[in-house]
Amino acid sequence: NLSDKLDKAMHVLRGHGQITEINVAETTKEIRRALLDADVNFKIAKEFTNTVRDKAIGQNVLTTLQPGQLMTKIVKDELTELMGGDAEGIDLSGNPSVILMSGLQGSGKTTFSGKLANFLKTKKSKNPLLVACDVYRPAAIDQLHVVGDQIGVPVYSDKENSDPVSLAQAGVAHAKANGHNVVIIDTAGRLAVDEAMMTEIANIRNAVTPQEVLFVVDAMTGQDAVNTAKAFNEVLDFDGVILTKLDGDTRGGAAISIKSVVNKPIKFIGTGEKMDAIDIFYPSRMADRILGMGDVVSLVERAQEQFDEEQARKIQKKIAKNTFGFDDFLSQIQQIKKMGSMKDLVGMIPGAGKALKGMDIDDDAFKHIEAIIYSMTPEERSTPSKLDARRKKRIAKGSGTSIQEVNQLLKQFHQMSKMMKMMQGGGGKKMMQMMQN
Ligand code: GDP
Ligand code: MG
Repeated sequence: NLSDKLDKAMHVLRGHGQITEINVAETTKEIRRALLDADVNFKIAKEFTNTVRDKAIGQNVLTTLQPGQLMTKIVKDELTELMGGDAEGIDLSGNPSVILMSGLQGSGKTTFSGKLANFLKTKKSKNPLLVACDVYRPAAIDQLHVVGDQIGVPVYSDKENSDPVSLAQAGVAHAKANGHNVVIIDTAGRLAVDEAMMTEIANIRNAVTPQEVLFVVDAMTGQDAVNTAKAFNEVLDFDGVILTKLDGDTRGGAAISIKSVVNKPIKFIGTGEKMDAIDIFYPSRMADRILGMGDVVSLVERAQEQFDEEQARKIQKKIAKNTFGFDDFLSQIQQIKKMGSMKDLVGMIPGAGKALKGMDIDDDAFKHIEAIIYSMTPEERSTPSKLDARRKKRIAKGSGTSIQEVNQLLKQFHQMSKMMKMMQGGGGKKMMQMMQN
């Protein structure tokens, strides 16, 4: 795991008063090894560590920072820059804007087509059309229809037409005739790069002149991902990269390598099979993630998006008046469940990835909590301080849990109240501090 390795590399520096040439050399060696282990191309890893070394040696140790922190900052800034500066958007200036998907079979093109359509529809108020150009497998066309139905986006397909080029053209014409301002063309991939696939996708591109040609790649395929990206880029000169399957623990090595080899921006990442498992790619967040700091910004952002505003206001009042109770806790849990799977969320908490690795975090964990709360009387729910040993015993029995579990829930309840107080009190910084405790 790359973040473990980097942790170890940073450890070399901790406790040292200054960055000397010797411990920088040691540290950069560790960093290089960590990058290589994460499938980062050798040349890139070497260049990267050379830059980090030069910067580290050139810097005076700031009095306020520990050398380890300074080194972490240098590594993070470099990683961020390597992965491409600021987040790049999608060109939506066309009328309609045509977005063409390319990539190997199984990379996630069809899934991502749906995610992107859903994203543009819900976040950018666009009216997208999906076009099915994978003519080789009837099941692929059906799959896109299933996706379209899920997100309420129409799909253009024609099982009578086996020519992907004219299909794509017909799809764009259909979009124009029906007032769609975005067209997302899903294409066929093969298991490996081959001539026919490249010719086909290039022909589609020439026929419909898309605003965006996106290359979709499975982040779990490591070094292969880099070779595939190179091959597609040589033929298509694509506009951006989509990294899929970056769920939970998948390492970010592919992001580093692909960006440096093809020098095209990574635009989005896929983090799950569901239609809302899509995130804009932010290099600095990915650098944090690679460094094991956790993607706190994403976590907070997602939390903010999903928490029902009115609910939040009500709860805010209750917290201020100190009348926040278990009924509110219950509705918070229901909100959290809406945010996505527990595994995803926990993976974003700093340090949690490591602490909880191998542990089975399933969404059923909530069921016990709910059962316990349901076993409380309304009075107990609104005034948790009433819960003495006798009541706890009764609740444990009633909910089929143990007193330990009831106690644990009480502890979580207090932590959550505290956390929500902090979130009101001013954003991510406090929350981050708390999560690290
Ligand atoms: P295509 O052949 O390129 O169209 O790939 P598909 O969209 O059919 O995806 C192949 C498989 O990968 C499917 O089982 C998807 O559910 C899965 N998949 C796609 N994107 C993601 C992702 O971001 N995370 C995970 N875990 N699975 C994904
Ligand atoms: Mg497909």
